[in-house]
Amino acid sequence: MMGGDKNQDQDAREIPEGPAGDSAFLAALEQQAQAWAAQDLRRIRRVLESAAGPWIEVAGKGRCLSFLSNDYLGLAADPVLRRAIAEGAMAWGAGSGASALISGHLRCHAEAERRLADFVGTPAALLFITGYMANLAVVASLVQGEQDVVFSDRLNHASLIDGCRLSRARIVTYAHGDLVDLATQLAATPARRRLIVSDAVFSMDGDVADLAGLLALAEAYDALLVIDDAHGFGVLGPEGRGALAAAGLRSERLVMMGTLGKGGGLSGAFVAASALVIEHLIQHGRTYVFSTSPAPAVAAAVSTALDLIVAGNWRRERLAELRQALMEGSQVWSRPVAEGTTPIVPVVVGEADATMRLAARLAESRVLLAGIRPPTVPAGTARLRISLSAGHVVEDVEQLCSVGRAAGI
Ligand SMILES: *Cc1c(COP(=O)(O)O)cnc(C)c1O
Repeated sequence: MMGGDKNQDQDAREIPEGPAGDSAFLAALEQQAQAWAAQDLRRIRRVLESAAGPWIEVAGKGRCLSFLSNDYLGLAADPVLRRAIAEGAMAWGAGSGASALISGHLRCHAEAERRLADFVGTPAALLFITGYMANLAVVASLVQGEQDVVFSDRLNHASLIDGCRLSRARIVTYAHGDLVDLATQLAATPARRRLIVSDAVFSMDGDVADLAGLLALAEAYDALLVIDDAHGFGVLGPEGRGALAAAGLRSERLVMMGTLGKGGGLSGAFVAASALVIEHLIQHGRTYVFSTSPAPAVAAAVSTALDLIVAGNWRRERLAELRQALMEGSQVWSRPVAEGTTPIVPVVVGEADATMRLAARLAESRVLLAGIRPPTVPAGTARLRISLSAGHVVEDVEQLCSVGRAAGI
């Protein structure tokens, strides 16, 4: 009845005609695309003909040595993990059918959350389809509106930045890793609620935040602390339990986000925190509430991924060995490689065009590194990023060093 009335109302009115002619909208998009390309900012996707790994088959190019992937432990193509996914799909289906709050929370999701919470040492955990979605939910549900303030490291990941924007809280950016600046801003900014957000391992620099220092400030200013451990989960800390475990930190004020698509070899993510915060996310995290829950096969494979991570000390030792080999072997390069403890190794070049030329020269020799340009990194700090994986062997790094030298790194 009501629907019928509405249609009749609409039938009685006229849809006004818009202006005809060429689309200014599409012309503006075309112009933007040209300007983007002219600044050497256009990204191009490669098609891979093989599974993720240190050696990949690239369409039109052949077999290449890759330092591109975030598959730090070499688990993405691991046969045991592949089998866990296959068996998970056979047991629980291809899709979950609904969001978790409707009917998409299967036993395999519940078990994955229990195991993840136990693994990182928090009372509870919550699965998300991606880390991006997890960060949006965490930041935008914990602070809301102008009376709240979120304190964000200048080099935080885009998903944290977008979470800040979505929250409509006041955003205060502090200088990268600068706890004095952060403390000054905390002291100077009145707020109903305060949230501090930081990457644990910064994805374009590979450096680790001072997590104990951040937690001390969170305690001093009655803030909660969100730590994005996308690059530390599986890699850092005892048995790969992450950057917070490496620092020996536990607190009700801590909210950890870990991704399963990097060190975990799968896809998806989780938030680990107190039962109170997890319950808050279940109720108010919009990307949790309004999105179909993760594929059951992925949830079912989490426990196998954790077993592989726990048993993967050799993988973490291999990463340290590769990093050492890179430090030594890259001394023949004209640009320095930063010291560090993570598998992310940046080589800062400066301008975007020079960076992309170097990456292209390496690619001609079938060695692939990421050229990272603005807006991903600040202007003038374009860089090559080397991602190491436990799937690499020292000879792979030696090949990178010699090809890099010939290419003029
Ligand atoms: C990759 C990444 C994310 C996003 O995780 P996805 O699961 O890939 O969406 C979030 N934060 C950081 C620091 C990352 O590097």
